[in-house]
Amino acid sequence: MPLKPIFPHVHVLPLGAVNVFLIEDGDQITVIDTGYKDSEKPILTAVQSLGKQPTDITNIVLTHCHPDHAGSVAALKDATNARTWMHRIDAEVVRGNTPMVRSQPAPGLLNQILYRLVIKPVGPYVPAAVIDCEVNDGDVLPIAGGLKAIYTPGHSMGHLAFLLQRDGGLLFVGDACSNMLGLAYSIVYDDLAEGRRSLAKLAQVETSAICFGHGKALSGAGVGRFRQKWQA
Ligand SMILES: [Zn+2]
Ligand SMILES: [Zn+2]
Repeated sequence: MPLKPIFPHVHVLPLGAVNVFLIEDGDQITVIDTGYKDSEKPILTAVQSLGKQPTDITNIVLTHCHPDHAGSVAALKDATNARTWMHRIDAEVVRGNTPMVRSQPAPGLLNQILYRLVIKPVGPYVPAAVIDCEVNDGDVLPIAGGLKAIYTPGHSMGHLAFLLQRDGGLLFVGDACSNMLGLAYSIVYDDLAEGRRSLAKLAQVETSAICFGHGKALSGAGVGRFRQKWQA
């Protein structure tokens, strides 16, 4: 799948139904989420297409522990020696210290169907990886001029969104919600009520664009629709 620019110095790499993001910061690259297991090759190929080497990936930031986001962090860290960042709760899952919770489908028949087709066949497991840095709500990571963490539990209990603070803001919402067939809940949540509160928190964030773990990025009027849909 081709790499597509979505924001100044930010590219999306769609791998099947899940998005991986690359942020260019001078010579360095930050990867946000790593796709399913065995995604390290397409990610490294995409990095090469930007004229960069694997070792130019200096940071890997994970929104949460699920197999479609953290599936290749172990292999990608091995190939790059990048620093890895995550919330403590989900980091413990990726480290192999806590079992992954089997999330429940969000309301609606479509979510029930997608749960059986997409979620259930994939085991609640990722290859164990070293997570170097535990990230808390409000932390600003020293990446690309400042990448601010926003704790957004619900989809998983250690879920983080991130705000790239330059150029008017680019908000990475991970799986707090999705934009596959329009803005909607993600297919599953560990705690939907928490997920709703997290979405209301994200609706307050000033940003010029929003990107999702699943689905197309939004900008302009789309940001207004996002804020209206999820406000408390
Ligand atoms: Zn997820
Ligand atoms: Zn996902």
